[in-house]
Amino acid sequence: MNVIDSQPYELLIGQRWTAGSQGHTFDTLNPATGQVLAQVHEASEADVDAAVRAAHEAYEKYWRKTTPAERGRLLRRLAALFERDREKIAWIETLNVGKPITHSLDSLKAMPSSLEYFAGIIPAVRGETIPVGDNDVLNFTLREPLGVCALITPWNYPMTLTVNKLGPALAAGNTVILKPSEVTPLSAMALARLFEEAGFPPGVVNVVNGQGATVGERLVTHSLVSRVSFTGGTVTGARIQASTASDVKRVTLELGGKSPLIVFADAPLDKAVAVAAGDIIKNSGQVCIACTRLLVQESVRDEFLGQLQQRLDTVRVGSPSDAATEMGPLVSAAQKKRVEKYIQLAGDEGATPAVHGNLLLDNATQPGFFVRPTLLLNSHNRMQSAQDEIFGPVQSVIGFRDEADALRIANDSRYGLAAVLFTHDGGRALRMARGLQSGSVAINTGVRTSFDAPFGGYKQSGIGKERGLEAIYENTQLKNVKYDM
Ligand code: NAD
Repeated sequence: MNVIDSQPYELLIGQRWTAGSQGHTFDTLNPATGQVLAQVHEASEADVDAAVRAAHEAYEKYWRKTTPAERGRLLRRLAALFERDREKIAWIETLNVGKPITHSLDSLKAMPSSLEYFAGIIPAVRGETIPVGDNDVLNFTLREPLGVCALITPWNYPMTLTVNKLGPALAAGNTVILKPSEVTPLSAMALARLFEEAGFPPGVVNVVNGQGATVGERLVTHSLVSRVSFTGGTVTGARIQASTASDVKRVTLELGGKSPLIVFADAPLDKAVAVAAGDIIKNSGQVCIACTRLLVQESVRDEFLGQLQQRLDTVRVGSPSDAATEMGPLVSAAQKKRVEKYIQLAGDEGATPAVHGNLLLDNATQPGFFVRPTLLLNSHNRMQSAQDEIFGPVQSVIGFRDEADALRIANDSRYGLAAVLFTHDGGRALRMARGLQSGSVAINTGVRTSFDAPFGGYKQSGIGKERGLEAIYENTQLKNVKYDM
């Protein structure tokens, strides 16, 4: 399937596809080969300004006046077009991100339902009438959109993260500017092409590409942008929070993680092993909620590790286009270097790196960014390799004595995105669920994010929630009206 354009991808500003005012392009790569996959036009300051003005005009002129039912209808049409193009989009993600094609297809399955979900719930979102002492006063609330929203995404799940931001923002009556990661911009471009066909008015959705420090920064600090929804690293999130503070913008930050997976001695070990292995196999461990600290009760450590290592030894690491591949490359040379640096650091800190999996390609002749699944045995939680987010197929293995010890170690992290625990003891499961400082907790299963449940981190993993009804609240503001009749 030929899914990549040979011409440079243009920006979408208002109703125009444009090369932008400076005409610069940048390369985006295929991480499995290290070769240039496509070229993309880079937005200038003037282009960012034009996109924001187009979004603002569309908001003021018509989008904020549309009914929830009208917006829902357009989102449903978009969902149908997405379903039509799903396979093509999955191939684009595989070529640009390096995800195995089976994983790309699977991760995009829920996207039409996500759009339909927000189309479905928005007509039911309403204000309320508040009883007051005085019968002559009508006291009520109106839930209103915010205006122009900047949606900024990272490279690891470019399509699902875009769709899960876009659905609630548009449903709530906002207009948007997408700023995809400069590393993987092609998924958002495929989506952008569907808006006109779905019948969205010009300017409701705009796309600007380019570097975060220039294009991203200009976008978030633009005075006509009222909300920033950002997914990416914690350092970038903190910077965005600072750069938008003087304008008191609404900011939702979905940031990094170093999630624990806690295995108690009474746990169903086979299930725990499957989830632990899956977390570094899936997208080569480049998943914000991946459990990268394996906390295992001392009495079952050897048995758990034996099973886990057996599973990891069978992992097929290879070409993402091959349906038999379980794990593809990392997204970039920089990411590969970062991961290898952390494996080295863990060794220097006293851990024992154990490399698993079968690389099905000849590493000497192919320049892709492959790293095999690696366990950092004999780690302890205060090691830097157990505290920093590595964002690759690497897990620290850490022992614990009892429930109190497990909870203390799990919470000893600046992050708080997700936590997983395995135990058959219901009371302990609930005590742990309450004690864990984490935005998502999964018991006897992996963390599965879904468009209908609120998602967001504690501590340095973020601010605010996306997905579910909470995403509508993040995309709206509430007005109180009192009317003396
Ligand atoms: P990143 O922070 O480097 O970049 C993310 C996006 O922000 C990119 O589009 C980038 O161009 C843009 N950006 C960079 N500087 C900016 C600035 N000053 N102003 C505005 N925009 C700017 O992150 P990444 O390396 O692309 O992604 C990996 C990170 O994303 C990991 O830390 C991972 O945990 C996190 N992540 C979090 C979630 C979540 O839901 N919590 C989901 C996926 C990924």
